[in-house]
Parts: sequence; structure tokens; C-alpha cells
Amino acid sequence: MRKVAFYVAWGIRRILLGHRVPLNCTIILTDRCNLDCRHCTVSNLGYTPLSLPEVERDLRVLYATGSRIVVITGGEPLLWQDAEGNGVEEVICLVRELGFFRTVICTNGTLPLESTADYLWVSLDGFPHEHNAMRGSIYDVVVRNIASSSHPGLYVNYTISSNNQLTFTRSAESILALPNVRGILFHLYTPYLGGDDSLMLSDDERADTLRRLFAFKRRHPVRTFNTVAGLRALARDTWRRPTWASVTINNGTLTDCCCRAGIYDDDVCRKCGCTPAVETWVLQTLKPSALIENLRYL
Ligand code: SF4
Repeated sequence: MRKVAFYVAWGIRRILLGHRVPLNCTIILTDRCNLDCRHCTVSNLGYTPLSLPEVERDLRVLYATGSRIVVITGGEPLLWQDAEGNGVEEVICLVRELGFFRTVICTNGTLPLESTADYLWVSLDGFPHEHNAMRGSIYDVVVRNIASSSHPGLYVNYTISSNNQLTFTRSAESILALPNVRGILFHLYTPYLGGDDSLMLSDDERADTLRRLFAFKRRHPVRTFNTVAGLRALARDTWRRPTWASVTINNGTLTDCCCRAGIYDDDVCRKCGCTPAVETWVLQTLKPSALIENLRYL
């Protein structure tokens, strides 16, 4: 009831008063990671580890923005531990105490996938050889962890790049067939500052990818997390960015949209394929079909 009232009030404030209250927010819990992925520019940068009080400080800033869905990411967030031995479960407790409605963890899937978070988003980028070419020889570990997880809200983040563009629909079908996978969200590779431009899709590849994504969405309308409105905005390149419907905090520094400061500029935003950003944009513009598709996750 509290949630329904919140989102109704959000819609009214948006329509009548033009208020801009972010729908979701992201906290960068750590830069530490146990992998060295080819496309990643944000791991093991030597950040000073956050303590739990610093995490609480950042969460309070996010809560004050009005957002009630928090995404915990890194680095690999499941590796985070402070000097007192607090881990990500203590962070989830804090999130709930502060009054957020939903907690989401994005993970590389190499650690056991048990958590009290509402959703676990696990990265899998294609067939075993494609995933391993991007992230190291970990595909089997990730799939074993998915299979042995008892988490009821386990989803897959799948990034389409030049590495897997030709085969992505077939490999995504095989991912949806894995036990415990509830659904999938496709991203298009974004060339963040310092990233590998050779992974970018060419214009033709991008157009072909989007055609095939629409077909995939028609085959799996519920299990494909990308909304039709979001795919249309991507295909027509009509979404305005950075979006205000999402905010990110990295050790006290708050930015609009889904990126931490330092990894993007106007050119990166222009080439952006970050579909969580696109999806929050279609929500901020109150696209009815996107609102309906997202109701179950709020
Ligand atoms: S549009 Fe948002 S998610 Fe995309 S690159 Fe820019 S800041 Fe990052």
C-alpha cells in the first residue's frame, strides 16, 4: 500500500508539477573485483574501501533524492567487507531500515548466489567461449552458481558487443533455458572512457541487433526485461540522456543517470547502449506500456 501510494504520488507530482524524482539509484560499493574483464573500466582502481558508516552516508543521500529502488554494484559488490567484518548483507539491512522498497545486486556470478536482496542480476554474455573471451574462464562457475541458487529473483544481464553480436539470440535462448533464470536484460556495449572501442557495434550491426531484439522480445515478452518502449527509444535514438530518473553515487559524489563520474562524456552518452538508462528514461516520460511492463518490479 505504501508503495502504491508512493508511485501514485510520483506520477501526480510528475504530471501536474513537473517534479523530477529519480525512480532508481545506484551505489558503488567497491571497486574491488576478482575478474579483469576486457570491457570493464571500473575495477580495481585503488579506491579507499568504504566503511559501513560511509555506505550509510551515501544511502541517505540516495534516499533523500526520492528514489526507492537501490542497485548495489561495484567492482564485485559481493566482495565488499569493511574493517569490522560487515558485508553486503549488512548493507541490505541498512537499505531496508532506511525505507527503500527494493534492493538489487549486480554481480559477476562467480560467488555463491544467495542473498536477501530482492533481485540478483548476474552477467552472462553469450555462449561459454564468448563469455570467457570477455571475462576469463568462468562461464562454468557462473552457471553452476546459478543452478545451485535458491534465490527467487535471479536475472541475467547480457551485453551485446562485436564479440557476440552474430549469435546473441541463440545464446540468450540457451541462457533462458538455464534453471533459476527468471529473465534477461540486453545491453548494447557502451564505449566508456578508457574502454575497448573494438567491441562497439557498427551502425549496420546495431540496426540488425535491434531488429533481432524486437523479434526476441516478441518470442519472450515477459522474460525479456527490455520494454517495447525502451527498444523503440533505442532504435530511434530518441531518448534524452543523461537521464534524471536514475542517479548514481560513488563515495559521496552524486551523478545523474547510471554512470559514476569520470567514465563518460557527451560522446560516450551519444553512443550509449546502457538499457537501464533507456528504461528509466521511458519511465520518466510516462510511456504507458513501459509503466505497465515495469509494475511487477516496483
Ligand atoms: S547516457 Fe547515462 S548511462 Fe549512458 S553513458 Fe551517459 S551517463 Fe552513462
